[in-house]
Amino acid sequence: MPRQLFVTTALPYANGNFHIGHIMEYIQADIWVRFQRMQGNAVNFVGADDTHGAPIMIAAEKAGVTPEQFVANIAAGRKQYLDGFHISFDNWHSTHSPENTELARQIYRDLRDRADGSLIEVRTIEQFFDPEKNMFLPDRYIKGECPKCHAKDQYGDNCEVCGSVYAPTDLINPFSALSGAKPELKNSEHFFFKLSDPRCVEFLENWTQDGKLQPEVANKIKEWFSVRTNPDGTQSEGLGDWDISRDAPYFGIEIPDAPGKYFYVWLDAPVGYLASLKNWFDKGGPKAKHGDTRSFEEYIAAADTEQYHFIGKDIVTFHTLFWPAMLKFSGRKTPNNVFVHGFLTVNNGEKMSKSRGTGLDPLKYLSLGMNAEWLRYYLAAKLSARNEDIDFNADDFMARVNSDLIGKYVNIASRAAGFITKRFDGKLTSDFGTTGAALLAEVRGASDALAQMYEAREYGKATREIMLLADKVNAYVDQNKPWDLAKDVANNQALHQVCSVLINTFATLTRYLSPVLPGLAQAVQGFVGVDMQQWNVAGDVQAIQPYQHLMQRVTPEQLDALFEVKEAVAPAEPAQAAPKKVAKSAPAAIPADPNAPGGEALAPTISIDDFAKIDLRIAKIVNCEAVEGSTKLLRLTLDVGEKNAEGQPTTRNVFSGIASMYKPEDLVGQLTVLVANLAPRKMKFGISEGMVLAASHADETAQPGIHILHPWPGAQPGMRIH
Ligand SMILES: [Zn+2]
Repeated sequence: MPRQLFVTTALPYANGNFHIGHIMEYIQADIWVRFQRMQGNAVNFVGADDTHGAPIMIAAEKAGVTPEQFVANIAAGRKQYLDGFHISFDNWHSTHSPENTELARQIYRDLRDRADGSLIEVRTIEQFFDPEKNMFLPDRYIKGECPKCHAKDQYGDNCEVCGSVYAPTDLINPFSALSGAKPELKNSEHFFFKLSDPRCVEFLENWTQDGKLQPEVANKIKEWFSVRTNPDGTQSEGLGDWDISRDAPYFGIEIPDAPGKYFYVWLDAPVGYLASLKNWFDKGGPKAKHGDTRSFEEYIAAADTEQYHFIGKDIVTFHTLFWPAMLKFSGRKTPNNVFVHGFLTVNNGEKMSKSRGTGLDPLKYLSLGMNAEWLRYYLAAKLSARNEDIDFNADDFMARVNSDLIGKYVNIASRAAGFITKRFDGKLTSDFGTTGAALLAEVRGASDALAQMYEAREYGKATREIMLLADKVNAYVDQNKPWDLAKDVANNQALHQVCSVLINTFATLTRYLSPVLPGLAQAVQGFVGVDMQQWNVAGDVQAIQPYQHLMQRVTPEQLDALFEVKEAVAPAEPAQAAPKKVAKSAPAAIPADPNAPGGEALAPTISIDDFAKIDLRIAKIVNCEAVEGSTKLLRLTLDVGEKNAEGQPTTRNVFSGIASMYKPEDLVGQLTVLVANLAPRKMKFGISEGMVLAASHADETAQPGIHILHPWPGAQPGMRIH
């Protein structure tokens, strides 16, 4: 029976774009998910934006948009990253959704209305009020000294130094981060989840200490059951109750039967896991994918549904205390496990590094043409099941990709394929000779041990093991020297054996690496004709297609460009500047000239090689809509015939400044021309993944109008324009 797996990553807060830490977590979870799918297990892998809370409310106000629009802008930029790094979420949703509102309220009601005594309590508390801003201060806008470790400048809800969670009133020397004013204490009614109730304490002590959690995580949590600093500064034993409400104004979910009171964002954020899953079920995803005809409610309550959350070490408390308790005492199943990872530092956090910075912007990585699977491989090689920090080191990255991944593994195929194609008509033999058969048996025999390593999230061990196998294959190459054998046709049989062994070991190693390198594995699948979507495949490779280059090497120039400090990191908030004109691409250096064609002189002559750098493709406009907040732009969804690593068709999001000329509905279904290899651009409204071509006169006032190109019938999406 296939396992039923419900897997999530932590929900990213929707106040900024993904950073490299998000991408690392998604890659870690994605490798596990892909491995499980290869085992034939039914996985539902979902994510969502965490959208609520005061920081987003305040950021939206600063940006002059509604919180809804603000989080929608952030959401529009997510796909670029997820597709770019081959992250195979089944569904991406939002905590600002009907599903989340309904589920959060129902969980709250179930906690409140328990037959054996409510776990919700209303108390009047003193809360900080900013006398200058005239509002209760959200936790994140009160700062002060941590009551536990005395770190300065910590937020009002938890300490980033020691990880303590506390009430804002626990802070020493608090001040308003909005106005700098010393906040006043005012009375307000708040809602508490009674975590200190003996029912909760007993349950949580067992849930966190029964051996499922990573040992270093379980040990850390133990502290929470024994020590706590009360608001009055005294120490007490045991868990404190959890304040789950906030006063209006607040961007969030209003608490049932409590007008003006909202759920604290951390109450509804993990509920977003369930909301995204429900959304996926309601859309029919599991039915289409696994033939699962159950409802969300049936699936999540089923005894054999396993629930796993991948998270960072900074949010352990929320996921190992609050979240399991919310689920348990609202009558729901609790997670099977929470997998905690450490932080990613870059170049050892060496801020003094002269040439290379310590930021790694994921979009910049992609826009430089760097292969997403280099990063996936590198992170896999460094990740273990432990909650420990890892470092991205540029030199180490280049060595592992070029020497290990390409030098040891990819080259196995390139050393054998040419002979098979030219000398044996692409056909392999299953007569491997004695040493060849033994080597192949050893490589194939590693399958179960490697499967256990992936299952246990020991990816570093797995990649080391795979590279050791690759070393053995390369030793076999050196012993048998196919390039020498090829010199004399009398050695044809030996050459055929050796090359057939190499292609078969390469196919098996590729399958082992497939969770880490899904794009490469798909290319190899086409090359050797072996299914790379399943962990166990019997039989030998029969024939190969002509070898095509599988992977480029990393260059020092790429790493220098990636870490160039000048334009290192994308801004944390959406760019506020008005979008630049996107329909026109005339270089600024060419001045307007009323006598020249189109109002501008011809650009300098280029070579055919220069032109070949521009990849123009036929694109079909599958959707087109106005962009709220812009009179110039239309948002185009383009089919350029592209597919993701799973072979599913994908589309591109492109903004074009053609709203003055075209109605969205007139463009849907039309073909046009896309500059397909233009670096993605971050705009106020999202990421533009290319540019559609349009003609206009240099002098817009004299001859207004922008005219998009329209290919003759018969052109198909994806065709290149030469
Ligand atoms: Zn602290």
